[in-house]
Amino acid sequence: MAYQPRASHFVDGQYCEDSTGAAIEVVYPATGETIAQVHSATTAIVEQAIVAAEAAQKMWAKLSGTERGRVLTRAAQILRERNRELSEIETHDTGKPLSETLVADAASGADALEYFGGLAGTLTGEHIPVAGGDFVYTRREALGVCVGIGAWNYPIQIACWKAAPALACGNAMIFKPSEVTPLSALKLAEILIEAGAPAGLFNVVQGYGDVGAALVADPRIAKVSLTGSVPTGQKVYASAASGLKHATMELGGKSPLIIFDDANLDNAVSAAINGNFYSTGQICSNSTRVFVHESIKDVFLARLSKRMELAIIGDPMDEATTIGPMVSERQRAITLGYIDKGLEEGATLVAGGKAIDGAGYYIEPTVFADVTDEMTIAREEIFGPVMSVLSFRDEQEVVDRANATAFGLAAGVFTSDLTRAHRVVERFEAGTCYINTFNLTPVEAPFGGVKMSGVGRENSKAAIEHYSQLKSVYVCLGDTEAPF
Ligand code: NAD
Repeated sequence: MAYQPRASHFVDGQYCEDSTGAAIEVVYPATGETIAQVHSATTAIVEQAIVAAEAAQKMWAKLSGTERGRVLTRAAQILRERNRELSEIETHDTGKPLSETLVADAASGADALEYFGGLAGTLTGEHIPVAGGDFVYTRREALGVCVGIGAWNYPIQIACWKAAPALACGNAMIFKPSEVTPLSALKLAEILIEAGAPAGLFNVVQGYGDVGAALVADPRIAKVSLTGSVPTGQKVYASAASGLKHATMELGGKSPLIIFDDANLDNAVSAAINGNFYSTGQICSNSTRVFVHESIKDVFLARLSKRMELAIIGDPMDEATTIGPMVSERQRAITLGYIDKGLEEGATLVAGGKAIDGAGYYIEPTVFADVTDEMTIAREEIFGPVMSVLSFRDEQEVVDRANATAFGLAAGVFTSDLTRAHRVVERFEAGTCYINTFNLTPVEAPFGGVKMSGVGRENSKAAIEHYSQLKSVYVCLGDTEAPF
């Protein structure tokens, strides 16, 4: 099999196998062919990973930040040098077109490694003068062994977004990729070793949810960072809480994009396309509820429909393709179920709406108009290429409706009125907001959700707070007094 890794797991600096673990088939979504098989980690593999990570972490935390940063920066460089190979793996694992994976996956992972590699040497504590000439200083210390658990939509990006800040702060990591996309994290593990990371610093164990749950519950784990759905987040957060562990939860969304009548319409259409159809709609922060001012609704839909005709659905390995298959038969079936619900509940189908016959898990990118707030497609995360267009009359009303969801990952506004843009953003209940664009996630900016969309932030200096802790040291320069 073309994409068969040397073994299922990467622990203590090398590939390892325990074929008694449940088999996980890796399927190329464009054809349905099995391209690799790995095994879920057994208790023995999980144990080896924790022991190796604990040992490596102790050595790693003793290095200077600059030394740690050098390894991460080298890894970033190797990722970029191997971008094509890594992108081809990612395309086979996820079905996302090469036109995307070449620019958005390993490349974004490399950005994270480079950014946190640069920050590593700058991480310091503070000097705090207190009464009587005494002082307190703080040490920014690592947490210990961190667990990263990934979703299947951005496998190597998610692995890097978690590993880079964790390692920069002096932690070790055990990463469990999604069982749907197990391949590229193994390459990251190889690359980190090549870049000079000690064996055991970054380990990859494969498995279903039970392997993730076992890792999170282990008392030797200090922190868990999950990217996944809300139901999984609730379980993982509860388990982390019972051990009083640090937790970052990057979960689902149902994000609004509000388009006012003074917006640049072509840009707004582009944002709605990017926010619904990039990665065949399988992005957590997608703007799946597009609120368009009623006075421009018809012209918006007309321009959108024209642009939809330009989508190139096809072989993801052809760089001209802009829409690949969905990741799995299951995810396509879920999406088709929501499309049926949209039709049943009275939304107007403007584009798409059907599975595409033949091999692979292809589906037409779909647009519904006349969607109302109470329809299922406007309330639940679909995680597929389905855009809901709703209309609105005034600002107050639309912001209330945009916020009327349990999710709070992202939100966007298109308008030429700067005052209104900032006023709306101030009222958005979302962790990541956009004015006149959507879904850009540069590593320099914090990314994450509020409400049910998550806790904590990835990327930026904010991530450092989530992978380190402060120790306060009181230094007394005088005598120590006591009451007796
Ligand atoms: P999922 O919740 O089914 O699985 C996510 C990961 O959690 C997988 O690795 C899975 O094996 C693991 N898992 C499942 N049960 C577990 C348990 N009890 N304990 C520990 N680990 C467990 O999600 P998915 O289908 O892989 O991904 C899609 C979801 O992820 C969507 O809801 C999407 O919005 C969300 N997502 C969020 C972000 C973000 O940054 N906010 C990014 C990408 C995807």
